[in-house]
Amino acid sequence: MSQYVAAIDQGTTSTRCMIFDHSGRVVSVDQREHEQIFPQAGWVEHDPEEVWRNTREVCAGALAKRDLVTSDVVAVGITNQRETAVVWDRTTGKPVYNAIVWQDTRTDRIVDQLGKDGGPDRYRARTGLPLATYFSGPKVKWILDNVDGARAKAEAGDLLFGNMDTWVLWNATGGPDGGLHYTDPTNASRTMLMDLDTLSWAEEHAADMGIPMSMLPEIRSSSEVYGNIRERGAFAGLPVAGILGDQQAATFGQACLSPGEAKNTYGTGNFVLLNTGTEKVMSENGLLTTVCYKIGDNDAVYALEGSIAVTGSLVQWLRDNLGIISAAPEIEPLARSVDDNGGAYFVPAFSGLFAPYWRSDARGAIVGLTRFVNKGHIARAVLEATAFQSREVIDAMNADSGVALTSLKVDGGMVANELLMQFQADILGVPVIRPVVAETTALGAAYAAGLAVGFWNSEDDIRTNWAQDKQWDPDMDEAHREKIYNTWKKAVTKTFDWVE
Ligand code: ADP
Repeated sequence: MSQYVAAIDQGTTSTRCMIFDHSGRVVSVDQREHEQIFPQAGWVEHDPEEVWRNTREVCAGALAKRDLVTSDVVAVGITNQRETAVVWDRTTGKPVYNAIVWQDTRTDRIVDQLGKDGGPDRYRARTGLPLATYFSGPKVKWILDNVDGARAKAEAGDLLFGNMDTWVLWNATGGPDGGLHYTDPTNASRTMLMDLDTLSWAEEHAADMGIPMSMLPEIRSSSEVYGNIRERGAFAGLPVAGILGDQQAATFGQACLSPGEAKNTYGTGNFVLLNTGTEKVMSENGLLTTVCYKIGDNDAVYALEGSIAVTGSLVQWLRDNLGIISAAPEIEPLARSVDDNGGAYFVPAFSGLFAPYWRSDARGAIVGLTRFVNKGHIARAVLEATAFQSREVIDAMNADSGVALTSLKVDGGMVANELLMQFQADILGVPVIRPVVAETTALGAAYAAGLAVGFWNSEDDIRTNWAQDKQWDPDMDEAHREKIYNTWKKAVTKTFDWVE
């Protein structure tokens, strides 16, 4: 009888359950999208109860699709959209407000206020992060400041905070009836509330944001048996044994396990992570320092990260807000209908700009328009925006690390787009490599769980399982590459100072 490991991937647009075999191949997958709630410009919310319902359904669905039963699975790992913040009542299990999603910019005033004393890098030395709307801490403050009665309840010890990993784990392990209120260092390192050296909560930061310590989950490792699933139904009784934030999980699943190895994930946004080993490298070029993973009692491994807020979601925007395409893959033939971008550059600063700029005052712009530009050119500009933004963060990474990247491993939903992959290789000037299993986020969480229960013995098993599917080599004249890249950078400057 074969045995498998399952991963719950609670992503920004959907929740997936994926079941993997010992060679890291996908055995089964089930997926449900959840509603994206946009109450006003700049706000993005999810309904945590819908997400938890979907989680249970996809776990059952993944078993049912291949006629598997719970006993075929030995352990469950969790990976999740990071920074997205949920606050709930520990007695009723009810959220006091919708989850505030990582892309949401409503905390811009809170962030400005926090920066009055010490500037935008006030917390960087301790947390690796610049002050930005992206991170969880200010989102929790917003909920406590704005939801009736929330602060009093929080101070009485009745409310819990978690990122999506914690929300899923707590519910799966019993909810109000003994649910485990844990997180891992990769998720905790995205709150602005964790000290990167001690991997414990920075009480002063929580105090600055008015967040009672009793709300914060216990920080465990990324790979250990936390407890068993108590929820009836699929996976009942199985150990939950791995937690990794989605980008760190993808880094792990891509077998970037040695210092100097990097990956770029192309999903809703793009995230380049470079493994820097047990050494914490502080960025001087607008990148984040973050925990990459901590396996059991081993020392934590750190990463430099270039986070880009809007890449795949710009393709969705073309589909949902403009209706130029009716499904994401249609962008490729549309972009191929023209030879180049026709002079148009699309800077999708919908959530301000993340790395390397960190400008919450930026908003999106399409520049370089003439009467000549058609929807094919716009489709191309949309795809090129992903590649140009990736080049910017990789340039920053090369500058910070002092070593130039020689190739780039890629994964995520957009890597199905071959035009984009070729353009990415062209604009970086290094080969782009796609693995056989592009679902590296879920795979990384499965590896973390499987290592904890002895299903995989060591990180060498992960290296052995990694296999290449396809490579794109650069094929663009260097002078042309630098010319269009410089035009892109000029386009970026047109998005600054849009919001006071
Ligand atoms: P996430 O995990 O962030 O929810 P995924 O890794 O599932 O995201 O990737 C989905 C994203 O990829 C969507 O934003 C979608 O617009 C984009 N996408 C999917 N297929 C293509 C394609 N063929 N070309 C361009 N973009 C695509």
